Order: sequence, then structure tokens, then C-alpha cells
Amino acid sequence: MNIKKVVIIGSGTMGSGIAAHLCNADIPVVLLDLKTEISEKAKERILKSRPPLLFEKDKIKSLKVGNISEDFDNVSDADWIIEAVVERIDIKHDIYKKIFKKRKKDSIVSSNTSTIPLKVLSEKSSPEDKKDFCITHFFNPVRYMGLLEIVRDKSNDPNKIDSLKKFCEEKLGKGVIICGDTPGFLGNRIGVYAMQVAMTEAVKMDLSVEEADAVFGRPMGIPKTGVFALYDLIGIDLMSDVLKSFQKELSKEDEFQKVVEGLPIIKKLITTGYTGRKGKGGFYRMNKFENKKVLEALDLKTNKYFPVKKIDLKIDKINLLNLVNRDDKYGKYAWSVISKIILYSSSLVPAITDEYNDIDEALRLGFNWSMGPFEMLESIGLDFFFSKVGDINDNKFLKNLKDKKVHNFYDERQKYTNLQTLGKIKKTVIKLDKNNSAEIFRFKDFNIVEFNTKANALDYDSMDALKNATDKPLIIINESMQFSAGVNLNYVMEFIKNKESRSVEKFIKYFQETCKHLKYCKYPVISAPSGLALGGGEEVVLQSNYVVTHTNIVMGLVETIVGLVPAGGGCKELLWRWSQTSESKSDPDYASLKVFDIIGYAKTASSPQEAKPLLFLDDNHKVIINRNELLPAARKLLNNKLIMSSSNECKFKLSGKNVREKMHKILEELYNDKKILDHGMEVGKELAYVLSGGDTDLNKEVTEDQMYKLELNSFMKLVENKKTQDRIIHTLKTGKPLIN
Ligand code: NAD
Repeated sequence: MNIKKVVIIGSGTMGSGIAAHLCNADIPVVLLDLKTEISEKAKERILKSRPPLLFEKDKIKSLKVGNISEDFDNVSDADWIIEAVVERIDIKHDIYKKIFKKRKKDSIVSSNTSTIPLKVLSEKSSPEDKKDFCITHFFNPVRYMGLLEIVRDKSNDPNKIDSLKKFCEEKLGKGVIICGDTPGFLGNRIGVYAMQVAMTEAVKMDLSVEEADAVFGRPMGIPKTGVFALYDLIGIDLMSDVLKSFQKELSKEDEFQKVVEGLPIIKKLITTGYTGRKGKGGFYRMNKFENKKVLEALDLKTNKYFPVKKIDLKIDKINLLNLVNRDDKYGKYAWSVISKIILYSSSLVPAITDEYNDIDEALRLGFNWSMGPFEMLESIGLDFFFSKVGDINDNKFLKNLKDKKVHNFYDERQKYTNLQTLGKIKKTVIKLDKNNSAEIFRFKDFNIVEFNTKANALDYDSMDALKNATDKPLIIINESMQFSAGVNLNYVMEFIKNKESRSVEKFIKYFQETCKHLKYCKYPVISAPSGLALGGGEEVVLQSNYVVTHTNIVMGLVETIVGLVPAGGGCKELLWRWSQTSESKSDPDYASLKVFDIIGYAKTASSPQEAKPLLFLDDNHKVIINRNELLPAARKLLNNKLIMSSSNECKFKLSGKNVREKMHKILEELYNDKKILDHGMEVGKELAYVLSGGDTDLNKEVTEDQMYKLELNSFMKLVENKKTQDRIIHTLKTGKPLIN
């Protein structure tokens, strides 16, 4: 099936999200709503969306907007028609009738419904039309959520479903899971159930909103929004609609019915406009107190808001067995929630799917969990689980495991795709080495380094793993959300607090040495980023020989925000790239000023398309829309010997004081306009010193090592400065910059 034109009906959250993502893939798309003004607004929303739905604004040119009365003819030559109107069956039926009258033979028609069964959607369609009609359930935000559930039944033409799956994998980069026609399919059936359990158990076990989110969050490999903040994010009203539908569609005996009502307060929240982040607030709200913003949480006993209390469970690595074994209320809550999720999910195999693995993957891709329920079970251990869980005789899946005395039941990962992903090959790789921050694998004739700290923050151990893995061609890749959010600032601050700045210096030197080694070692090095590649993370990317990058990335050298300068070779490498441009040939200060602007403002790119003009990516990169394809694409390049390591070291001609004076002038203007304050000036001057080449002029040459030295000296001067430390502490505490 060749999809050359798509029509989407309904330009709300989902219709516009799907349209934007089709634009990303350069597929012509027409977005229709009741009135053209509504779809025009949707177009504006796409352009203004944050995080951006488009890889770059220019992609919008594939989108046309219109209304269903005047522009419906567009359906007649569309290859795929997607219905994404409100969740009302009468409206949907009415639209299908019109579509099937107009559409061309062989086109495919799908609904984005989250809850209405396929058999209900298609009950009025002819057998011929049913063949081409299915559900394509995208997740919000469409660009960023990996999951696409395709729901089909036996009336469908299987070849058509296969080719739609292929299209959505290859062109839209989705992890496509084929599901049967059961309520909520896989992702929402378990994901929403898990949220309801997490919510109701929190109240039963007397945990506050903040405490529940602190447990049902990172310690369980679940995003930090946990349950209550996630409710606010999705919209409490929308959640309520979804739950009503589950209540209606599921059998009375289904375990979900026990938690489907949620909390009594929810009705009141909705009627008073507390629908979550889009409303006045929800379980959390932002309040103003003495002119300062204060984040408050709802007290579930008194129904009043109080300033949020930070809960620190002192867990930095996910270990479910340790978590459920904790002898405190958090451990008990974790066990109660996890065991219920496992019991429910396993009770639904094979009723909702033959592949338990698909449930796990749906939770990974659709809810960003790092483990699905069955992986949780394996991680806790079957013996422990059975010893604690009580009677499982009604649960065929679990009973079978227990009777067979199986210990490791988990077979292949990511069965929904044929691609050889990192998750899949992990079972067969040789584990060469592992430290606290990273793991080295050997697969066939190359090595893989996977970072595994929180947000993959880098430290001495991460560098050690990289350095030790260069005895073969190397691919730096990981399965978690972020490639790397940069150097671990907690680690740096710990040294500073203990007055061990020599240790910081030693670490930065090792960082530099490692990055230089990555660039020039005998074997080629490929970075395969997805998610954040910031600060130190971006420095690793910059000094790899080649980059196979996912389309969902955030790249940048953002060190100045915390009062530092990039010191792992970031200044040097970006400066080198800019000095190779044609503008630099005629203006010796061009590169220094350009990089001063990029690093000084901590500019970031939120796609490879945006990263390229900033030269965060040079010509040596390949853009991949399907994250599962990062590893196969990198392997292909290595197998075909298409990547070489760098040979000649860079030598810079920089004008030193001359360009520095120009930079100082820029800083003074910013200072006079109060855009930067005293410390901003200080940081800017250090950056200027590095990027001007220090004490040099155009007749001298500055070597790569000298550039590293300049970076290190400025970094050390700044990190020892109290005002930089204030910035770091503030950012670590609040996640926000401190302007001082
Ligand atoms: P929405 O309310 O944001 O948008 C619905 C749009 O449909 C509106 O712009 C409305 O004007 C338009 N519309 C209504 N009647 C129409 C008609 N007769 N012809 C043309 N347009 C019409 O809704 P949404 O959140 O985008 O949801 C759309 C569908 O996607 C629903 O079936 C929903 O269940 C499903 N869904 C939503 C989410 C989510 O997170 N919002 C996720 C997955 C699936």
C-alpha cells in the first residue's frame, strides 16, 4: 500500500498531533473539522506547540486545512482517512457513512478512538467496507509517544493491516502493536488500571498525593509524574470519560470495576474547574503567596491544598525487590500496587493478547514505563512473588508458571518488531563489564556501551566504560528515555562541598581524555542518541566519529545556565566545526562569535533538523525516525565499513584579544540591558576567553590540547566560584535556572 495522501477528520488534540507527525514524514495531509477556523487554529497550535510537534516549522507545508462541508471531496483521492473526532458513537457513525460513500476503493479508513470497540464502530458498515476499516490508536503527544495500537478483527484484510503497520513503523517511526478488539486495547487497559490502583491504594494506605507519586514513579521505573500528577497532565475530566467507558464496556466481574470509580473528590474537582494543568489545577496547583509561586498538593483527607512536601525515598537505582521489601509504608504500598498490576495483567493473557510481551511493550511505549508488568514480575522473582501473593489458582498464566517451577520465564523482548533492537539482542550479547554507571556489551564484532544512571548523567565510571570499550568499533546507545542529560552535577557538588576541587579537575581531565580518545582511537565510534543529549552528553556526541540520531532529541551545550563552560571538548569541537564554514574563510572571528552566541545563550535543538544548522550535527550523521532502528542502522554502517575514526588533530587560528573585545562588547550591552547580571558577565567572559583561544593571535596556532586546557582552566575557575555553586544548587533543587 502506497500512502501518498491522508485526510484526518477532527482537528483537536489528536487529529492535529497525527497531522503534524504526518507532516514530519513529508506525507501530504488534509485536516478537516466542523469549520475551517477550527482547523486553522489547530495549525497555529501545531506551530506553537511545546515541546514542538514538528521536527522543524517548515514541515507544516505538507498540511492543508478545511471543513467537512466544503472540503470533504478530499476524501475521494486519499489513501488513508483517519477519524479523530470527539468520542461519540453517533457522530463517528455519521462520519463513516459519509467517508464510505466518497472514499476510493482500497483506501484504508481508521478511527483514533481510545475506548469504543471496533465491532461497535463498524456495526453499520458493509462487509466490503469493514475489510478496510480498523482502529489506529495513537498516543498523545503523537510525535513523542512511541506506541501505535492497531486494532483489527477477522473482517479485515490481513495484508492491508500488515502494510499499514509497515508504513507506520517505517515512515512514522511508531512501535506498532497489533491488538484484538478488547476494551482499552493493551496500553490503556493496563496503564489506566494501574493508575486507578495506585490512586485508590494511596487513599486506603493513608499516603499523601506526593508520597504516592514518589513511590509510583521513578522507583518503579515509571515517569516521575506518578499517578496524581499524570492525572493532572492528561486532564481529570478526560480521565473520567475514559473510565466511564471502561465501566460500560467491561464485564461486571472484571477486576477493573473495583477501582474504576476512583476517588469521590474527582467529581467535585471537575465541576469546580479543577480539571488538571489545563484548568485551575487538580491534585496539584500553582498558587501565589506573597508574590511568589508556590506549588501545592491536595490533601486527600481534608480536601485542602498545602505546599508540596518533597519526599525522598533515597533510591537512585530501580530495584523492585528492595522496594517491595522495604519495611515501611512505601514498601507496603509498592507491593500492593505492583502485585495487583501483575495479577491483573497476567489474568488477561490470552484474553486480550497471546503475547504477554506485547503488554510490557505497550506500557513502555505508551506510558514510558521502563518495565512492563511481566518484566516487573521477573525482576521481583517468581519465588518471592508466589511466597507473598496468596492464592493464584484462578490465574492460569501464573498457575502454569508456579506448577512448572519456572524461574526465568521471560523470553524475547519487543516481539512486535522484526528489527534487531538493543532490547532484543541483550539476551545474546556477551556482558564484558559493568560498573555503577554503565555496561559494556560485545555483540558480534563490535562493542556497545549503555549508560544506566538517572537521566544517564555522566561521571568517572561512565567515562571509564567508554574508554575501556574502544578495543572494537563502538556504538553508544541506550534504551532509557535520555541519551544523557550531561555531567552529574550532584557528583561535582559533592566534591566541591568536601573541598576536593582537585577531584573535580581530575574528573574533567579524564572526561576530556576519554572524548579525545573516542575521536582518534583506532576503531570508529558511533553515538546513537534519543532524548536529551545535553552538556557532557552532547560533548560525547560531538566527539564521536558518526551520529545515528533519533528524530526526538534535545541537543545543546547548556553549561552556561549553571554558570560553567563546556569543558569536555564541547567548546573546542563546535568551534572547529564553525571554523570549517565558508564564512570563516573570509572572517577569522566568525566561528568564535558564532559559537559564543550558541553556547552563551545555551541554545538547544529539538530535532536533528534543528541541530544541523547549529552544527551540533555535521555531515557525519544519519536521521532515524524509528527508535528501534538506531542500533540496526549503526551496525549496518559499521559492517559496511562506512565509518572511519578521525585522523588529523585540529589546529585553530584564533585572534585572541581581538575577538575577545568584540565578545566583551556584546556582554556589556546585555549587562546594560539587564539581560545578564554580574555572574552572567563573569561566565560570559570565561567563555569568551576559551573561544578566543586565550593568549593568542592570528599568527599563532592553537592546538586541540591547548583548547582542552583553556576549557579546563575556565571550568575550574567557575566551579570554585560561589555564584556558580549557587546556580548549580538551585538548578538541582528546582530544575530551573538561577539568574545571578
Ligand atoms: P478533541 O476534543 O480535542 O477534538 C475533537 C475534534 O473533533 C474537535 O476539534 C471538534 O471540533 C471535532 N469534531 C466534532 N464533531 C465533528 C464532526 N462531525 N466533524 C468534524 N469534526 C468534528 O478530542 P481528542 O482528544 O483529539 O480526541 C479525538 C479522538 O481520539 C477521540 O476518539 C479520543 O477518544 C481519541 N483519543 C484521545 C487521546 C487524548 O489523549 N486526547 C488519546 C488517544 C485517543
